[in-house]
Amino acid sequence: MTPEHIEQRRLLTTQLPGPRSKELHDRRTHAVSAGLTVGFPVYIERADGAILVDVDGNQLIDLGAGIAVNSVGHAVPEVTEAITRQAQRFNHTCFMVTPYEGYVEVCEALNRLTPGDFDKRSALFNSGAEAVENAVKIARRATGRQAIIVVEHAYHGRTNLTMSLTAKNMPYKDGFGPFAPEVYRVATSYPFRDGHDGPSAARLAIEAIETSVGASNVAAVLIEPIQGEGGFIVPADGFLPALAEWTRGAGALFIADEIQTGFCRTGSWFACDHEAVVPDLVATAKGIAAGLPLAGVTGRAEVMDSIHEGGLGGTYGGNPVATAAALAAIEVMRRDDLAARARWIEQFARPRLEAMAATTASIGEVRGRGAMLALEFVLPGTKVPDPKAVKSVLAACHAEGVVVLSCGTYGNVIRLLPSLSIPEHLLDDGLAVLESAVRSLAADD
Ligand SMILES: *Cc1c(COP(=O)(O)O)cnc(C)c1O
Repeated sequence: MTPEHIEQRRLLTTQLPGPRSKELHDRRTHAVSAGLTVGFPVYIERADGAILVDVDGNQLIDLGAGIAVNSVGHAVPEVTEAITRQAQRFNHTCFMVTPYEGYVEVCEALNRLTPGDFDKRSALFNSGAEAVENAVKIARRATGRQAIIVVEHAYHGRTNLTMSLTAKNMPYKDGFGPFAPEVYRVATSYPFRDGHDGPSAARLAIEAIETSVGASNVAAVLIEPIQGEGGFIVPADGFLPALAEWTRGAGALFIADEIQTGFCRTGSWFACDHEAVVPDLVATAKGIAAGLPLAGVTGRAEVMDSIHEGGLGGTYGGNPVATAAALAAIEVMRRDDLAARARWIEQFARPRLEAMAATTASIGEVRGRGAMLALEFVLPGTKVPDPKAVKSVLAACHAEGVVVLSCGTYGNVIRLLPSLSIPEHLLDDGLAVLESAVRSLAADD
C-alpha cells in the first residue's frame, strides 16, 4: 500500500509547536538524555517531498533535509519500493559472514562516481564518523605513518577519534577528553575572515605542517571540500588543489570528507569535482541512502587493498536495506539530474539571499555552492559573529513552519540544505518566510 501523497504546501493548523508536540516533548525530557539538543521541538509523523507533517497536522517546509540527508526528497516512491522489496527478502546477514549483491553494487557505484579515473575499491559503514575513522585507519596502515592533518572549523564526527579531528569545543568536545593523539590542526581558507587568496592560504597551512609536524610524518590531510558544521565555508579558489598537490608530494594521502557535500549537493556528484581535485580517499554518508544509515570509504585500489584481511568491517556496515535505498537514491539522482537541480537551486535562491544581505548590515556574507547555501550574521558594520541574530531568525522561520538550520564555529550562520527536488513554489515560499524573518531583525535594530 502506497501512502497518500501529501500536497506540497505549507499549512499551519496550530501554533508551533502544537499541543501533541508539546506532550511528546514533555515525555521526551523524562526519557531521553538531556545531552541531545533539539533544533525545533515539532514531532514529525510523516514526510513527503519537501514537506514534513507533524503530529498536530501542520505541514512544514523542510529546508534542512535532515542535515543534507534526504537529498532526493522524502518518501520518494522508487526508494520506498526498494526498501520494502529488500525488507521482504532479508534485513541482515552481515556482509563479512555471507555476502550479498547490493553491497557490491553500491561499492561499484561509489568507485564509478567519486572523483578520479583510476582503479578504486570501497568499504561500507554505518555513519559518517565511522567512515572517517576508517579512512584514517586505512591511511595510517597504507602509509606506515601516523600524523593526521585537519583544519580549523573542521567537523568530522563525535566518536573519540573524529571528535579529536573536529575543531569546535562546545558542544562537541567539552569534557569528553582525552582526545586521540597524532592529530594536528592548521589554518583553513575562510575568505570572509582571513582575506587570503587560495594559494596563500594553502602556503600558510603547508608551512605550519612542515614546521610543526614534518612532511615525512604525515599519513593524511583530511578536509571537507566545503566545511559544513563549521559554517559552510567555501575555501578560496586554488586552496584545495594546492593542498592536495603538496600532500601527494609529501607521500601522504589526501582524504576528502564529502559526507555533507557529496551526492549532488553542491551541483556536481562531489564537491571536489568543482576544482578537479582528486582525493586518494573519499568519505561519504548523509545523502547517499535517502535517510537510511549508510557510509562509505572509497579510494585508490592499491591503498584500499593494502589493508590486511579482516582489518576492516563491522556488524551492520552496508546493511542490505540501506544499500537497496542507496541504489534507488543514486538512480533517482542520475535520472533526474539532481546535480543540475542543485545548480538551479543556487540560481534561484542566491539572488534572494544577496538581496537580503543588501537590506541588512547584519548579514556579513552570502556563500555556498549549489544547494548548500548560507548567510553569515555579524554585528552591523563589523565581522563580529552575531549568533543572537541567527537565533531570532531561526525562531521566526520556525514559528511560520519553515525548518531552517544554523551552523558555524560561532553559531552565527544560517544554512539552507533543501532536498534537491524541492518544487520551485516551496523554495519560493520558504525564502519569503526567511526574508520576512530577516526584515524583522532589521526592524529590531
Ligand atoms: C555529519 C558529518 C560527519 C559525521 O557523520 P555522522 O553520520 O553524523 O557520524 C562527518 N563529516 C561531515 C563533513 C559531516 O557533515
